[in-house]
Amino acid sequence: MSDPLAGLYQQVILDHSKLRRGYGSVERADAERHERNPTCGDEITLQLLMEPGTDRVASIAWHGSGCSISQASASVLSELAPGRTLAELQSTIDVFREMMRSRGAGEADEDLLGDAVAFHGVSKYVMRVKCAMLSWVAVEGCLADLR
Ligand code: ZN
Repeated sequence: MSDPLAGLYQQVILDHSKLRRGYGSVERADAERHERNPTCGDEITLQLLMEPGTDRVASIAWHGSGCSISQASASVLSELAPGRTLAELQSTIDVFREMMRSRGAGEADEDLLGDAVAFHGVSKYVMRVKCAMLSWVAVEGCLADLR
């Protein structure tokens, strides 16, 4: 099997896996979820912070360990989420999930997904889809808790 990181967006994923945006933890979060991907060994604890009195995301803090795809994906998500409303974030998650299920087909929506389009190529590698989805599943859990 060829390397899922090969190709056009390799650099974006590598950069995010090295310089992890949002990495850390806060004492108080509005929602928090822990997710594991036993297939690969990835683990993440993700915290969601809201702008007080609004339904807008202020920031995401996360920590955990795992492969570069899972770490880069959490980093990209931390960059994308702030400023979006809960509904906007949910539709971003839906579009990301659809892309990750596409097995490399179609075109990714760069306006909505930003750097997350870098994972379009990863969707061809079924074993790595869960790595890329891990933090997104965690943040979706946080959204469910806030409803
Ligand atoms: Zn992984």
